[in-house]
Amino acid sequence: MIGLTLTLHAVSHKGRKAYKDDIGTLFLECTKCKAIKDSYSFINKATGFQGKRNDCKECRNKSNKVHTRNWRQKRAYAKHS
Ligand SMILES: [Zn+2]
Repeated sequence: MIGLTLTLHAVSHKGRKAYKDDIGTLFLECTKCKAIKDSYSFINKATGFQGKRNDCKECRNKSNKVHTRNWRQKRAYAKHS
């Protein structure tokens, strides 16, 4: 990311910013980790800002793991009771 020149491309109604680099790659700010990542780091979402989800794949994976663990714990608990 060092040396990359990003130009402000668009701002969402919630104040979220999208940028483009000098070769036209779209960059978005992750609302969870606050990092600015290229659009390939975000899952497509038709209704999302710039057609992408608010959180990056990395944050999405983290929250998915938490959900799976909670779900497993609930299942385990249900079996014992
Ligand atoms: Zn993130």
